[in-house]
Amino acid sequence: MNDKPKRIAVMGGTFDPIHYGHLVAAEAVRDRFQLEKVIFMPTGNPPHKEYRKVSSREDRYLMTILATVTNPFFQVSDIELKRKGYTYTIDTLRELLNIYGEDAEIYFITGADAVMEILTWRNVEQVLSMCRIVSAFRPGYDIHQFRNKVLEIEKTYKNKVHLIEVPALAISSTEIRNRIQNNRTIKYLLPEQVEKYILKKGLYKGDE
Ligand code: ATP
Ligand code: MG
Repeated sequence: MNDKPKRIAVMGGTFDPIHYGHLVAAEAVRDRFQLEKVIFMPTGNPPHKEYRKVSSREDRYLMTILATVTNPFFQVSDIELKRKGYTYTIDTLRELLNIYGEDAEIYFITGADAVMEILTWRNVEQVLSMCRIVSAFRPGYDIHQFRNKVLEIEKTYKNKVHLIEVPALAISSTEIRNRIQNNRTIKYLLPEQVEKYILKKGLYKGDE
């Protein structure tokens, strides 16, 4: 076999719920880097989100499936959901390199906010040797506030951090959850199937 190295993106997130911000960013990255696919990976037990009750793994997984069915390049993986204990990117990357080959090019998508935190990740050096980071930000976002951080990372880990502007996406899961509690519309912020799923299951109504 003379298989070329696989080129894939991974979009990790709590996806509670998944919304058009995630989907548009993922598609923009796939298009820009001409990737074979984007793997959406709902996180099991994110170390930094302990302060609120996260919806069940099953709900988040099913919403992610519903949101991605119409895009043939999108796929959902449950490898983080299945893992016990906290989710660390390094473990996920190891597993992906096992699946797709050690020479696979993995583009790891994060929002701009996450780049700021990258240096606090466990095993950051190893993580960055195993993947490229693509950081999505929206037009108007003050990238200067993290420009220095990015330059710092780029200087240390050449070619490993890309910035990509994603238009018109001020959407967040927090905003959607708040809207549901306040009986406000969430239409057009996320795929209709996901909206229906949320309503059917009564998700986020009882959030504090
Ligand atoms: P929450 O409001 O609960 O933090 P969220 O909307 O940020 O949720 P997450 O599941 O935390 O969603 O995000 C998963 C990934 O998607 C993160 O890397 C995050 O930075 C990124 N992301 C979130 N919203 C957007 C958006 N509107 N555009 C681009 N990327 C986004
Ligand atoms: Mg977030």
